[in-house]
Amino acid sequence: MNIIIKEEYRQSYPISFEKLTRKLLSIIPKKEIAGIGEIIIVDTLYGSKYLTKKGKRTGGQYYFKNKGELAKIKLSLSAIYRGMPRILFYFPLIAEFAFASVLYHEIGHHIQYSTHGIKKENEEDFADKYKTKMLAKRFIFWIIPLIIIYIILKIYYSLKPDK
Ligand SMILES: [Zn+2]
Repeated sequence: MNIIIKEEYRQSYPISFEKLTRKLLSIIPKKEIAGIGEIIIVDTLYGSKYLTKKGKRTGGQYYFKNKGELAKIKLSLSAIYRGMPRILFYFPLIAEFAFASVLYHEIGHHIQYSTHGIKKENEEDFADKYKTKMLAKRFIFWIIPLIIIYIILKIYYSLKPDK
C-alpha cells in the first residue's frame, strides 16, 4: 500500500518536499507506516488547536484513522522553517534535517497508536524518542564529516593568536 503525498502549499521552495518525504519514508520498515493513508504538506496549519503550549504553531499534526479513512499526517512548512533564512534551502542537509525532525515525530505518534493504543501521558516522549532514532539512522553518515569540520575549526582557532 502506497502513502499518498499531497503538496498543498503555495509558497515556492527550491526543493521537492514530495521527493524528500519519499526518501525519508524509505528507511522506515513498511509495517511501521502501514495504516498511514496520506501525508499532506501545507504552508500553515490554521486554528487554535495547532498552537503549542508556548503559543507557537505546530510543525506537524497526526490524525488517527477515522470512519474507514486511514491515518493522516499534516506538515506545516511555515512552522518547520520558522525563523530560518531562505538561504538554508541551498544547504539541503539542514533543510532536510528540520523537515525530517517533524515528520519522524508524527510517525512516532502513528507507531505508538498502532502498537500501544492511545496513552496520553507518554505520547510526546514516545514520538520524540522515535524521531531521535530515525534521525540517527538517516544522518549517521554525516556524523564523521561533522566531527572532522569541528576538529578543523578547533585547530584553526587554537592556532590563531589571542588578541
Ligand atoms: Zn507530538
